[in-house]
Amino acid sequence: MEQLQTLILGSGPAGYTAAIYAGRSGLSPVIYEGLQPGGQLTQTTEVDNFPGYPEGVDGNQLMADLRNQALRFGTEIRNKYCVKADLSKRPFTLTFDDESQVQTQTLIIATGASAKYLGLPDEEKYRGLGVSACATCDGFFYRKKVVAVVGGGDTACEEATYLAGLASKVYLIVRKPFLRASKAMQDRVFANEKIEVLFETNTIGLYGEDGVEGAHLVYRKGEADERTYDLPIDGFFLAIGHNPNTELFKGQLEMDEVGYLKTEGQTPRTNVEGVFAAGDVADPLYRQAITAAAMGCKAAIEVKQFLDENSL
Ligand code: FAD
Repeated sequence: MEQLQTLILGSGPAGYTAAIYAGRSGLSPVIYEGLQPGGQLTQTTEVDNFPGYPEGVDGNQLMADLRNQALRFGTEIRNKYCVKADLSKRPFTLTFDDESQVQTQTLIIATGASAKYLGLPDEEKYRGLGVSACATCDGFFYRKKVVAVVGGGDTACEEATYLAGLASKVYLIVRKPFLRASKAMQDRVFANEKIEVLFETNTIGLYGEDGVEGAHLVYRKGEADERTYDLPIDGFFLAIGHNPNTELFKGQLEMDEVGYLKTEGQTPRTNVEGVFAAGDVADPLYRQAITAAAMGCKAAIEVKQFLDENSL
């Protein structure tokens, strides 16, 4: 079976940055890019907050730049998807969608996390045209505009509060008759004059010519007093959680209750020696391209140290 020193799963900012650092340390890393080469940023047009691009950059361009930088330092990029990982002993054995297998002394997991959507066809239709799952990323584009945030937990309340600092009005669309968020977060929401909470409300569609101009809502769905109406908005933000892509590692690596990989303190070390986690897959808090890249950098530095210490 093929033997590798360093294998990186995932080709988002974390994976490519890990490859750049590992490549420059002489490790000849191999990246398996998975079903979404370039990761989440390939779904967006404008990235305004990645350092080094004063005029902003197209998400696909940014990822192509990172890919080329990784290639420049000897990274091999393979277009395959990992279907099984055996981390019970080193070298670790990974199996891919074409049934090929490799063994590796070190593994960097950078498989990201996917935002949850409601499942409406309109979310797909208007993605990047008013639909977003990241207030930190896209809030800036809605200054002095009207937006809606979907969700009733801590994240939704946080996103609504953040957006209220930019937008002229924020509707928080909550399915239940109450918020699930902590008392402190709820207090912040209720104290904010720009936020209006729409309890017992479901979104059934979006409308607009070239982008989102409003949402079709239903109040008290299925109840006797059910009522549908249209709410004019410029932006529709989902804040109903993320699914970290960690299914492969269940029972092998420590995770939190949602499935985010747990790492040791500020490091990318998992509970299995030689396995490191970088980017959104291990970050329920920040989920940004730059934080993912930073974790990729840390993971590659750790890999180099690990290989040296173990004379591998
Ligand atoms: P990801 O980018 O999620 O990449 C994960 C990679 O893992 C993919 O290549 C995937 O194919 C691969 N993979 C998954 N499973 C497997 C497997 N089993 N085998 C092999 N490979 C696998 N952040 C910002 O900082 N600024 C922005 O403006 C911004 N805008 C955004 C807009 C949108 C629409 C979205 C969705 C996100 C945005 N973000 C933004 C967030 C940013 O994209 C993420 O924080 C970042 O991409 C996380 O990087 P990552 O490397 O951890 O994972």
